[in-house]
Amino acid sequence: MMLKVPLAARLLPCSRMTGSFCVFLGVRQLCFRKGLLYGFKHCFALPFKSLHGAGQSIRVSRFLCNAACASSMLQIELVPCLKDNYAYLLHDVNTGTVGVVDPSEAVPVIDALSRENRNLTYILNTHHHYDHTGGNAELKAKYGAKVIGSHKDRERIPGIDITLNDGDKWMFAGYEFHVIETPGHTRGHICFYFPGPGAIFTGDTLFSLSCGKLFEGTPEEMLSSLKKISSLPDDTTIYCGHEYTLSNSKFALSIEPNNAALISYAARIAHLRSKCLPTIPTTLKVEKSCNPFLRTSSVEIRQSLNIPTTAGEAETLGAIRQAKDNF
Ligand SMILES: [Zn+2]
Repeated sequence: MMLKVPLAARLLPCSRMTGSFCVFLGVRQLCFRKGLLYGFKHCFALPFKSLHGAGQSIRVSRFLCNAACASSMLQIELVPCLKDNYAYLLHDVNTGTVGVVDPSEAVPVIDALSRENRNLTYILNTHHHYDHTGGNAELKAKYGAKVIGSHKDRERIPGIDITLNDGDKWMFAGYEFHVIETPGHTRGHICFYFPGPGAIFTGDTLFSLSCGKLFEGTPEEMLSSLKKISSLPDDTTIYCGHEYTLSNSKFALSIEPNNAALISYAARIAHLRSKCLPTIPTTLKVEKSCNPFLRTSSVEIRQSLNIPTTAGEAETLGAIRQAKDNF
C-alpha cells in the first residue's frame, strides 16, 4: 500500500508480531493493520508489549496521544493500572516536564517513567478514591512530585500539596489547564481541562458511554457537572478513569437500540476490545451522539425506561443511572 507521508510524519512499527504500522501525521494518526484502516485522533501506538499484573486486560503497554498546541506538544500516555483503571502520563515535550493523572498504583507509572528515563514533577488527582490516588505516596516519595487536587478533598487526597478550586487556571509547564468542579460521583471531584490541546481528564465523572456512580451526589449535581463538560468544544478529547466502554455499550444499546451512531460506535468498541486495545480517548462529539447520560432528551431512552415525557433532565438522568446500576 502506498502512503503519502508528510515530511514531519513519523512512521512507527505498531506491532512487530503483525507487521502493522502506525503513521503519525501531525495531530492525526492512521493505523494500518491487516489491511484495515483505523483512525485515532491525536494518537499512535508504540510496539505492543504484554503487561502482567497491572491492567491485565490491556495488551498494549504504550499508547501515546499527541496533542499539538501552537509549536509545542503535550504527549499523553495511557498507563493501565489495577484491573481496568487508566492513569495518564503528561509529557511536555518542550520542557521535559512530566505529570501523572490519577495514579491508582505506583509500579506501572514508575515502569513507564523508567522506560524513558523521566522524572515526575506533578501528580494530578481528579478525586480521592483509592483507585485514583493509591500511587500518590510512593510516587511522591520516589520523585518528590507535588500532588494537586481539589481544595474540597484536601483532607482525603493522600499527600496533597496544591489545592485548587472551580475556575482556577494553572500552568502545567507550557500548558494552561482549567479546573472544573464536577460533583456527583464524589463531593470534591474535579476535571482538568487543557483548552490549548483540547483535552480533558474526567476521572469518574464522564466515561465513554456512561457516567460515574452517584456515591456522594445527586442526579441534579451530576447533570450540572456533565453539562459543564458537554459545553466544551465537540472535538475535545476525553480521557476518563476506567476502561468500562464495552460493558457500557451493552447498557446503552439496551435503552437506545435504534441509535445508528451508537450501533456503529459499539461495533468499533467491540472490535478494539477483541484486540485488547484501549477504547480511550473518546471525544465529546461521540459521547453526545452515543452516551445515554448526555442524551436525557432522547425519546427512545425515555420510552425504554418508562420515563414520562414531562420528566426533567435530572429526573431522567437519575432514572438512567438507576437502570444502569441494576443492569
Ligand atoms: Zn471514583
